[in-house]
Amino acid sequence: MKDLRAVLDQRRRDGLYRSRRIADSPQLPERRLDGGGCLSFCSNDYLGLAAHPQVGAALQRGADHWGTGSGAAHLLAGHTAAHHALEEELADFVGAPRALLFSTGYMANLGVMAALLGRGDRLFQDRLNHASLLDGARISGARLIRYAHRDPGDLERRLDEAPAGERLIASDGVFSMDGDVAPVAGLQALAQRHAAWLLVDDAHGLGVLGPGGRGSLAQAGIAPAGGLVLMGTLGKGLGTFGAFVAGGEDLIETLIQQARSYVYTTAPPAALAEATRAALRLCREEGWRRDKLQALVGRFRTGAAQLGLPLMESDTPIQPLLIGDTRAATRLSAALERAGILVPAIRPPTVPEGAARLRISFSAAHDEAQVDRLLDALGSALEG
Ligand SMILES: *Cc1c(COP(=O)(O)O)cnc(C)c1O
Repeated sequence: MKDLRAVLDQRRRDGLYRSRRIADSPQLPERRLDGGGCLSFCSNDYLGLAAHPQVGAALQRGADHWGTGSGAAHLLAGHTAAHHALEEELADFVGAPRALLFSTGYMANLGVMAALLGRGDRLFQDRLNHASLLDGARISGARLIRYAHRDPGDLERRLDEAPAGERLIASDGVFSMDGDVAPVAGLQALAQRHAAWLLVDDAHGLGVLGPGGRGSLAQAGIAPAGGLVLMGTLGKGLGTFGAFVAGGEDLIETLIQQARSYVYTTAPPAALAEATRAALRLCREEGWRRDKLQALVGRFRTGAAQLGLPLMESDTPIQPLLIGDTRAATRLSAALERAGILVPAIRPPTVPEGAARLRISFSAAHDEAQVDRLLDALGSALEG
């Protein structure tokens, strides 16, 4: 038996220990965490819908109508008219023939890969993909081949070298720790040429990028169908919980038959589907949320450049400051926290060794004064 205490103590000494704060207020920029107030820049609630009264009211009406529990898996009477309507609305939103709800994005990624790939197949992934995509390699049994970040040329060399068999290319649409955007058009051209599936995980693009917030594929002018598979999450830009996969008719029917993380799990509550339908309506109708978000990001980048802060190449609401040393990033995050501002330090193994950073994320629920407060605090923390 492993000495868990010794392993935990080592983690602490390495500055890698993770712990949770307890919030006792809703997901809004000004929060109460561990009993104290702070201004938070660490949520993925990009459109400011996570605490929106209309979404909450839809959840309540849904609970009045449907109750709380779905009671069973989708295939066993857990699939309600609310889930079904949401699937149709999501498919329409992203311009796909069909969409299928999953309980979480993590499960959706595992489900797609396990359904499409098996032993002997090849899974090509961007080096900086989200952990849930990487874990899909293990669960599918396919051989994992990682290509250089956002580099279709490197991917092509690896595709050329690989033996025949099923192939799937997977990429974050917006990279979760860097905020930069995948070259999806280039990836799609390669996927077509090599008869490979392309799975784009748009957890951070959906609701935020592209015309009407339809995501990073829409921004590149392409729609999920045929060999192109979109995974979107509902707990970030849309402010609720869960995920979906969008794509062609045969793909979705195959997932219903074979994605184990779909088949062997309880359907999410129908009331939650009603809440997401309300959030999707707000996302579609209130384009000002995206405009405001973009303006806040622009204000931050201008101010940060004036302060000489180590900005990264990102024009999405994910704005990391690359610090490098893990302990330095942790110290900076702690200094900001003393100033009442919450910005997490992201450390290995979530990011590569030597690439620790502060991950700042913006929401349409922030205002300009809050961005200025962040800039002031960053300026002082970096001097001190
Ligand atoms: C958050 C995230 C997921 C997981 O989605 P959940 O619904 O939170 O499980 C998958 N991929 C990426 C890129 C993410 O950022």
